[in-house]
Amino acid sequence: MKVIPTGSTIGILGGGQLGRMLSMAAAQLGYRSHIVCPEANPPAGDVAADVTTCAYEDLDTIRRVWRDVAVITYEFENVPVSTAAALEDLAPLRPNARALEIAQDRVREKSFATELGGDAAPWADVASRADLATALHMIGTPAILKTRRMGYDGKGQARIAKSDEADEAWADVQAAPSILEGFVPFDREISVLIARGLDGATALYGPIENTHVGGILRSSCTPVPLSPVVEARAFDLARRLADALEYVGVLGVEMFVLGERVLLNEMAPRVHNSGHWTIEGAVTSQFENHIRAICGLPLGTSTTIGAVEMRNLIGDDAYGWHALLADPTAHVHLYGKAEVRAGRKMGHVTWVR
Ligand code: AMP
Repeated sequence: MKVIPTGSTIGILGGGQLGRMLSMAAAQLGYRSHIVCPEANPPAGDVAADVTTCAYEDLDTIRRVWRDVAVITYEFENVPVSTAAALEDLAPLRPNARALEIAQDRVREKSFATELGGDAAPWADVASRADLATALHMIGTPAILKTRRMGYDGKGQARIAKSDEADEAWADVQAAPSILEGFVPFDREISVLIARGLDGATALYGPIENTHVGGILRSSCTPVPLSPVVEARAFDLARRLADALEYVGVLGVEMFVLGERVLLNEMAPRVHNSGHWTIEGAVTSQFENHIRAICGLPLGTSTTIGAVEMRNLIGDDAYGWHALLADPTAHVHLYGKAEVRAGRKMGHVTWVR
């Protein structure tokens, strides 16, 4: 296994809080991070060795500033696949471009998972208003219309309680290519994070129970009282996806639990918000394991060291950070974002008990 020597520079596409936590994990192992993202003063910029502000499409600039990078990764799943793939001649891209390409498109993602024997909510491809009528006839209501691409934190989604709401939903997604998904009356929403090394070794985190408010992750807890069958199915799905993608790094897999069924919701080809607790609550964090994996190092154990709760600080929640510190067991993380906006992830808090 070819190891990226410590002291090398890791190129990271994306400069948000995930890039910030990845950069800190990289620094712990002696690596330098060089962030490329279009936003000025990104959260990762406070802790990375270098930051370049440019469009993801500006390949000339990226090639020039990344001449010395030893490996390239990404912390944002909507970076253009064409950019990620074009940069592969500079240094290895981990996770690979195929993982990015599949995860960016809900149709490809769902087809890929079902081909591997994974379960998912009933869904149909919707390319036009006429397709939506056919899909509603097939799937029924309630249902959720989701854009194929660029959806995150509940954006690009419209719920359809009755079929007469179809016009409004189609307008909500701005007539973009979409999928219609049957509404799942799930018992729980869970995720599994899988780290997969260059040698194919894996380390699994979870299952983690996730609570969303308005489509945004509010809190994550682990362990979750699940039946051994459900737990095995969740781990098995994550392993199958990671192996089939020849994945290197951390993959987040979000699922719905309905009775004994485990249905794929979506996968994120990157470190994941539902695993922030791994910084204090696991022997090796997801961030460190992502860096270990992409640098060809052996993975650290993912075992948890207690019962864990992680709560996101969203929008105005951030103003309460000092009050949270009155609890001496609270691990408070702030992302250094200058402006508080509704729905913006400003930080998170973890408790390990
Ligand atoms: P997504 O962006 O696809 O992860 O959706 C955001 C959130 O909407 C999920 O975390 C769920 O809480 C909810 N959701 C999405 N799809 C469905 C579905 N098919 N049935 C029920 N709830 C859903």
